[in-house]
Amino acid sequence: MSKKSVLIIGAGLAGLAAGCYCQMNNYHTRIFELHNKPGGVATAWKRKDYIIDGGIHFIMDHKPGQPTYELYRELGAAQKNPFVDLNVYGRFYDQPTGKIIDISGDLDRVDADLKALFPEDAREIASLLAGARAMQRDGMDGMDYARPPELSDRWEGLRQLWGMRKLFRYFTGKYAKSAAKYAQDLHHPTLGQVIQYLFMPEVPVWFVMMILGMCAEGRLGLLESGSLDFAMSIEQRYQDLGGQVIYNAAVEEILVEENRAVGVRLADGREYRADIIVSAADGYSTIFKLLGGRYLNDKIKKRYTEWKLCSPSIMVSFGVAREFPETPPFNTIFLDRSLAVGGHNVDRVFLRIFNYSSKSASPGKTVVQVEFETEWDYWHNLRKEDHLLYKTEKERIAGEVLNVLEKLYPGISSQVEVTDVATPYTTWRYTRNHQGASMAWLYTPELMTTVMERTLPGLKNFYMAGQWVVGASVPGCLYSGRHITEILCRREGKQFQKC
Ligand SMILES: Cc1cc2nc3c(=O)[nH]c(=O)nc-3n(C[C@H](O)[C@H](O)[C@H](O)COP(=O)(O)OP(=O)(O)OC[C@H]3O[C@@H](n4cnc5c(N)ncnc54)[C@H](O)[C@@H]3O)c2cc1C
Repeated sequence: MSKKSVLIIGAGLAGLAAGCYCQMNNYHTRIFELHNKPGGVATAWKRKDYIIDGGIHFIMDHKPGQPTYELYRELGAAQKNPFVDLNVYGRFYDQPTGKIIDISGDLDRVDADLKALFPEDAREIASLLAGARAMQRDGMDGMDYARPPELSDRWEGLRQLWGMRKLFRYFTGKYAKSAAKYAQDLHHPTLGQVIQYLFMPEVPVWFVMMILGMCAEGRLGLLESGSLDFAMSIEQRYQDLGGQVIYNAAVEEILVEENRAVGVRLADGREYRADIIVSAADGYSTIFKLLGGRYLNDKIKKRYTEWKLCSPSIMVSFGVAREFPETPPFNTIFLDRSLAVGGHNVDRVFLRIFNYSSKSASPGKTVVQVEFETEWDYWHNLRKEDHLLYKTEKERIAGEVLNVLEKLYPGISSQVEVTDVATPYTTWRYTRNHQGASMAWLYTPELMTTVMERTLPGLKNFYMAGQWVVGASVPGCLYSGRHITEILCRREGKQFQKC
């Protein structure tokens, strides 16, 4: 029997994973990618002798035996990427009060430190840490990505609930509130800030506990070689399995005949046909542009009109002739003087120090990156209307950010060898993620409890993978690629294979 053919749009992590698993299951696949390299938002770029990593902060389960590790191994990523344990999840520096708070995997220490700094919130700190310890002990394996909704039977939900039964009390009441709402009931505003920005203010408190539990359990790891190498290792695996990525190939239309997806048309007019089409690209452009908005239902319409997107961000990176041995990789700074950006004040920045990565800079040098939320419209309009002003504004912001760094690391300004500024427009240009939302939907409790189908109503032979159907996360997106293959195998009555 001749092999069925699958065309995949997008060589981000989801598209590459879909390609690998389809190849393992005897499909003939090709991936079309608009950029000239794989990875999508999991990316990096070179500036002189420095590699600027614009993607993945950490991955879950980087050690053999941990639940998701096998996925990385199947995709060739575990074998090729050195992982570094993330022992300190993050440092918080409150400039107005001078308080420094380290959140590490040592939960007893975190407990003691927080109580010493915020004695008025001691009871709440104790219960938060109790939740984190429960998550560490009883794991979150019930909440896995193991099956696509199309293949789940009605017992699937119950099985997941059973897996998490010991943690139930943390999924209700005050712990089900968003971190932002929960923070309002704390006495000390700085503690509230820390809880909110441990991940994002919109996530439920149990999610914050889960992160603390995972860090304590040693389940969080850094990519020593960076995001692009991680993506390239999966691309290599895909090629070894016989797959082909076609770069500089923007898909402009998904060809449909009698409500069946039959192929794609590229921006240069070339057309390719296949039995199955998978989009692992931006959800908005897939549904509303490539398919002209013809395959929708109320649920999907609501999602794409009402759900909030993750705020796009601006990323200012410096290549610096200096080492930072004492600073953890991830730091959040609550500023004593706001930065003015696009008509808004920025009061908090995320500082990433690549001191764990020998790949990003030569010995004695380091990439230092400052990231903060900003607005799509501002950067989009500026770039469209006045390219020169867009460039000047980027330079101005780089200068302001350097002033912030100078306060933290006196003398750093004279050690800067490279400056790079990426705006939401940059994200959109290289990945097409809607309005520069490099992490798709905002992590709200609604997102976290919604299971999105990988198909569109009324359209046959078409599937979606990636962060617009599972939410932003490395394991989630990789699993979503595997899910497509599992659905295809089931459809054909074949046993799904992993090798
Ligand atoms: C800064 C940052 C930090 C992150 N940190 C973490 C982390 O610490 N841990 C974690 O688990 N997750 C993290 N994530 C999330 C995770 O990296 C992403 O969710 C995941 O990489 C998204 O993969 P994807 O394949 O779904 O989408 P994308 O990466 O967006 O890939 C889509 C691909 O499709 C291509 N494409 C789009 N339109 C077309 C078209 N018309 N034709 C052809 N190709 C097209 C794009 O160029 C792109 O390559 C982070 C994300 C960001 C941005």
